[in-house]
Amino acid sequence: MTFDEKEKAQENKQLLLIKQNGKCLYFKECHTDFVKDNIYPEAAHIIIDSKVNIRKYGYEILRHPLNFVLTCKNCNSKAILNPETQSGKNHIQMIKDAIAEE
Ligand SMILES: [Zn+2]
Repeated sequence: MTFDEKEKAQENKQLLLIKQNGKCLYFKECHTDFVKDNIYPEAAHIIIDSKVNIRKYGYEILRHPLNFVLTCKNCNSKAILNPETQSGKNHIQMIKDAIAEE
């Protein structure tokens, strides 16, 4: 990642932290409050940035802020959507729409 990309990733993390009230996306299951518990959040990809996915969908989609959620270590893999499933396809379409409106 370039310096700018890193800066942008940090910024997105801050925005997600506010959006998720400083908690893990799966707070109901794990009760992780990043702020209260002093735990560093992980930015989890919803569509993972595997080589195949990068080739198929491109960085613009995979690195889009909408493709991330904040989770604790234990919940990181729960956020993943398979891009071949209907909910995965819907998710990608939602990002495409957002990019078109930018
Ligand atoms: Zn969690």
